[in-house]
Amino acid sequence: MPRHFDPALINDPFGDPGLYVDLVFARRALLFDLGDLSPLAPRKILRVSDAFVTHRHMDHFAGFDQLLRQLIGREKTIRIYGPAGLIGAVEHKLNAYSWNLIQGYEGHLIFRAAEIDKVGSVTSAEFSSRARFERFDAGTNQSDDGLLLQEPGLQIRSAFLDHGEPVLGFAIEERAHVNVWRNKIEAMGLSIGPWLRAFKEATLRGARDDSLIEVAWHDPSPGRAAHLPLGYLKKEIMKITGGRKIAYAVDCSFTDSNIEKIVRLAKDADILFIEATFLDSDAELAKARHHLTARQAGTIGRLAGAKRLVTLHHSPRYKGKGQALIDEAQAAFTGG
Ligand SMILES: [Zn+2]
Repeated sequence: MPRHFDPALINDPFGDPGLYVDLVFARRALLFDLGDLSPLAPRKILRVSDAFVTHRHMDHFAGFDQLLRQLIGREKTIRIYGPAGLIGAVEHKLNAYSWNLIQGYEGHLIFRAAEIDKVGSVTSAEFSSRARFERFDAGTNQSDDGLLLQEPGLQIRSAFLDHGEPVLGFAIEERAHVNVWRNKIEAMGLSIGPWLRAFKEATLRGARDDSLIEVAWHDPSPGRAAHLPLGYLKKEIMKITGGRKIAYAVDCSFTDSNIEKIVRLAKDADILFIEATFLDSDAELAKARHHLTARQAGTIGRLAGAKRLVTLHHSPRYKGKGQALIDEAQAAFTGG
C-alpha cells in the first residue's frame, strides 16, 4: 500500500511536460504525460504501472514510443489513461510497426488503454503482444466524479479542462490512515487492545470530540474512568499518516470554467504542478494559444489553497528567463 509519493518533473521546465511519481513502498511508479521520456533511466520506466495522458499534442504523447521501446519483450501490463480518442491513438501507434516476430519474445507485454469522455464513460481496450497488439475492446463503465483509478491506498481523479480541445487534469490522493502512538498509550497506563479499533472508527467517521470511547486500563483499579472523551484521546494518542495529495494541470486557458475545475481538483493539495507557459505581459498570446500565464497559474494555486506550487511547460521564447516565470507565479501564489 503506497504511503509515500515521490513526485519529480521528468524534464526541465522548458522541456516537454511530464511528471514521474514514484510510489516508494509499492515499488511502482505513475507517469503523467508521455512527452520526452529520455531523462528517465530504463529501470524507472520499468517501474511504471500506470500512465496518464492529458491530451495528444505531440509534446504530451510522443514518448509513447520510448515507453514501448523500453517495455517490448518484458513481462508487463501497463495501463494508459487519457481523454476520448486515446484508444485509437494507442492502436495507431502500435500499428505503425510490424510485429511478425513478436510471438518469439518471451515476455508478455500488455497495454490496457482506458479513455474517459465528458459524461464520465470510461471505455477500455487491450493490446497484447501475444496477439501482435491487435485491439480487443474491453467494455465501458461509468466513472464517478472523474475517478480513473481506485485502490485501497490510492485514488486518481480527473477533470476536463479546455485547451481548444479537451485536456485532462489529474489529482493523485493517498488515503489517510489513523494510527496510534503505542508508547503514549502505555505511558498513560492504558493497554493496547480492541478498544483502539473503536477509537479509530469513531475518528474516521468524524464523531464529536465529546463522544465517549470505552478504554481498557493496564491496571483497572477502581476509580479509573471506563470511558474517555474522543477529543482527549485524539490529542494524546492519535497519529495520522499519509493523506498526501498532488495535482497536475497543464495546457488550458484562464477561463472561469477551467479555474473552477483546477481549484476543485487541486483543493488543499500538497503540491500543485501547473503550467506557466507565458509571462503575464503576453496574456493576449496565452489566451490565443489556450495556455496559462505564470501569474494566472499562481492565482489558481492560491485559490486552491495548495501548499506548494511547481511550474512547468515554459514557452521557449523565455529561454534564459525562466526565473522571471517562476517569480511571477510564486508572487501571485503567495498573494504578493
Ligand atoms: Zn503542451
